[in-house]
Amino acid sequence: MKKIIAVDGPAGAGKSTVSKIVAARLGYTYIDTGAMYRAVALKILQTGKPAEDVTGDIDIKLDDAARVFLDGVEVTKEIRTPEVSRGASDVAKFGFVRKKLTELQRAMAIQGKVIMDGRDIGTQVLPNADLKIFLTATVDERARRRFEELKAKGNVTDFEQVRKEIILRDKQDSTREIAPLAKAEDAILLDSTNLTIEQVVAEILRLARS
Ligand code: C5P
Repeated sequence: MKKIIAVDGPAGAGKSTVSKIVAARLGYTYIDTGAMYRAVALKILQTGKPAEDVTGDIDIKLDDAARVFLDGVEVTKEIRTPEVSRGASDVAKFGFVRKKLTELQRAMAIQGKVIMDGRDIGTQVLPNADLKIFLTATVDERARRRFEELKAKGNVTDFEQVRKEIILRDKQDSTREIAPLAKAEDAILLDSTNLTIEQVVAEILRLARS
């Protein structure tokens, strides 16, 4: 059984949805690293302070139910707005933010039996992961999923806007200088465009058990 699983890919590919299910089926801990970048962005928005000032002693915790706590306060819902998505991608380019969060992420994975998702897990955070997946889907399909997700949560938005923001975030994430979104050489490419959630989960479980 693979003890450490890394899942990377662009926004809306289904990383967190499938990783959560795989974690539950294997009895593993799920670690959503995007939520950590989002928490940094939320703190900047809340305090109006620059990234340098909020990063040093930031306290971010994820619990077993994938709830997110920033400085002891639950922010699970607050970090899911389009404004925070943009902010997260903006702060993710700073080396000092990445260094701080990478350290926290490695510490969280140290006991094994984890599935961690993000953009640079297979390439930077856990280069020795036992199984690396690069999960992707077409831009249209990813935008459609994100649009449905936002709508279900009651966020008023329009499809074209969601699509534009996804394209912008992909570009920003894959062209930044430090730890850009990239498939690790030894990662397995999974295109989820025409797959159901259950099919993607089944494939990852098969790979994890092989
Ligand atoms: O995965 P999610 O969409 O929640 O991530 C929000 C943003 O955080 C991404 O667009 C990316 O800029 C950043 N991120 C990152 N490295 C990770 C996880 C997320 O740069 N490992």
